[in-house]
Amino acid sequence: MGLTGIEIYKKLPKTNCGECGVPTCLAFAMKLATGQAELASCPYVSEEVKAEFEEAAAPPIRTITTGTGDHALKIGGETVMFRHEKRFENPPGIAVLISDSMSEEEIESRLKRFTELQYDRVGLILKAHAIAIKNVSNDATGFVSLINKVKERIDAPLILISPNSETLASGAKACAERKPLLYVATKDTVDELANLAKELSCPLVAKGDSLDELVEVTTRLTDAGVKDIVLDPGCKDSASALHDQVVIRRSALLQKFRPLGFPTITFPCEMTDDPMKEVVTASMFIAKYGGIIVLSNLEGHGLFPLLVESMNIYTDPQRPMAVEEKIYEIGGPNEDSPVLITSNFSLTYFIVSGEVESSRVPSWLLIKDTEGLSVMTAWAAGKFAADTIGPFVKKCGIADRVKHKKLVIPGYAAAISGELEEELPDWQILIGPREASHIPAYLKMWEP
Ligand code: SF4
Repeated sequence: MGLTGIEIYKKLPKTNCGECGVPTCLAFAMKLATGQAELASCPYVSEEVKAEFEEAAAPPIRTITTGTGDHALKIGGETVMFRHEKRFENPPGIAVLISDSMSEEEIESRLKRFTELQYDRVGLILKAHAIAIKNVSNDATGFVSLINKVKERIDAPLILISPNSETLASGAKACAERKPLLYVATKDTVDELANLAKELSCPLVAKGDSLDELVEVTTRLTDAGVKDIVLDPGCKDSASALHDQVVIRRSALLQKFRPLGFPTITFPCEMTDDPMKEVVTASMFIAKYGGIIVLSNLEGHGLFPLLVESMNIYTDPQRPMAVEEKIYEIGGPNEDSPVLITSNFSLTYFIVSGEVESSRVPSWLLIKDTEGLSVMTAWAAGKFAADTIGPFVKKCGIADRVKHKKLVIPGYAAAISGELEEELPDWQILIGPREASHIPAYLKMWEP
């Protein structure tokens, strides 16, 4: 909560009745301020005060959702300037641009790449998130027909872009159930688009040619009752665009300036004709502080690094990345296949599983939960030790899936082999290579 204990106390009934489970209102206020209590525990707080507290507890940058269901895109909700202060919350959405002036082939090709370019990395599927549909022809029929075509083919959030409010309204009504992001309310169109956004319950982009003008537009939108707003400070050169992103983030977080307390949309696709410069600009917006990043096209060599960058920046720096503790089948193993075990640090898993896969020896890979620590660190911390591995091997069910009883442990954990044999008396403990790159050669010599 953004209020101090004393500020909260001033708004409580001050009767010290104790019904909240705390003896005094002051003690309850202190608990609320530190997140150790819920406001709902006090039955005597007025609706007005509740609303005030909700407002104060809201993140300084509003969370906006576009799209629905499993594919909804959530942006904003950020509370810190820098990742190391706590963590960033919602990674930017990457969108690809198509327009109603493109040829059928070009549209098909972009939609195909949107669907096909997916990457399995550290247990996550990385892919682009949204499709920006631009009305260039100024023909409402063509715009709506393109929206319908995309809607039928792809279940992804849509961003509808039109300079004409009526055309935008026609497009929005054609896919309102998908909760598209509407682009764009300027100082000239703010009133009619505010009504459209409210009528369809869709988020709306506010645009200004300067930050002052942007503030004017968002203020008018919020006064009109529009809450879900995305900011577009306009397309400029990279340096000015970066400056605007930083000013918006600082104003929202440090000055608590509500008119700029919304996520942004950025258009690297309109800032350069050079595909590689576009990727570099998009990369800048991932780091600082784009909410949605619209690309002119999707190419694997540009998209993949952007997605990895985003994943790295938006993971929680206080929690190591980990994969699930379980048995992983690699290459269709059978009852004679080797059984290997390692830690659940995601990098360890992906390196080891990659090497096992490249060996072409079908194998069982047991992943032991080590709280995301690598083998050596987990061993030193007692999380990859015989007394934790033994029970896991017994309960995971691998004994029912193989005829042999041979378990390959990482070479770096050789020191636990004796104790592990005591924990697993039916099993023969084999010491595997220290380096994952030696796994293929090791497995080639496997005999059950
Ligand atoms: Fe105070 Fe409300 Fe707790 Fe009673 S229930 S002590 S009024 S905070």
